[in-house]
Amino acid sequence: MKLIWCLIHRASEEEMAKHKPPKDRKFGKGVVKCRRCGTTVGVIRKYNLYICRRCINEIGPLLGFKVYE
Ligand SMILES: [Zn+2]
Repeated sequence: MKLIWCLIHRASEEEMAKHKPPKDRKFGKGVVKCRRCGTTVGVIRKYNLYICRRCINEIGPLLGFKVYE
């Protein structure tokens, strides 16, 4: 019984290691800021915009985007 537990535990540990993020936290919270208003919530990095959803809603039409209609 103990052996089985050890196997399961080890397996889960390996799983954890697999999903461990890389050392440099590029995707950590608060790293990506909106260039327009500086918020870190809902910032879209697609197309290298680095602009939050709210600002995209505001300036989207100017850029030809149709987001969150
Ligand atoms: Zn913004």
